[in-house]
Amino acid sequence: MKTIKVSVVTPDGPVYESDVEMVSTKAESGELGILAGHVPMVAPLQIGAVRLKKENQSDLVAVSGGFLEVRPDQVTILAQSAEQATDIDLDRAKSAKDRAEQRLNETKRENVDFKRAELALKRAMNRINVSERNI
Ligand code: ATP
Repeated sequence: MKTIKVSVVTPDGPVYESDVEMVSTKAESGELGILAGHVPMVAPLQIGAVRLKKENQSDLVAVSGGFLEVRPDQVTILAQSAEQATDIDLDRAKSAKDRAEQRLNETKRENVDFKRAELALKRAMNRINVSERNI
């Protein structure tokens, strides 16, 4: 099957680079599947998993939002943060999840930035799911 080059890049540097058969992820507008020869486009991404399908296996990368750009021979994902499944610190993600949940359950609501806590919870859940390959 024809392959396409994929790079996942963050402000801290490249996180993933490979030739793959298909890139699947969630754009803001819904599920996205990119094969070689896809029309050029740019799409904002949700906090979610990016599945990179190769001949005999798939790689998973947790992405905290950002943009996906498709060019004729290359897909680039620019994300604020991203980790390959194998690089995720599961304990750290579980602690982040607990912290975010505590904030969201806080009774003194004026002390909590709910949007920020919700996003932290989404990032943590996404990392946990990717690390456990639970997607
Ligand atoms: P935390 O509260 O644990 O810092 P966060 O969601 O606020 O989580 P981010 O701001 O998204 O963290 O990321 C900061 C940096 O830490 C990024 O480089 C990101 O890749 C890395 N990072 C965050 N959580 C993890 C994790 N569980 N395992 C590995 N790297 C992580």
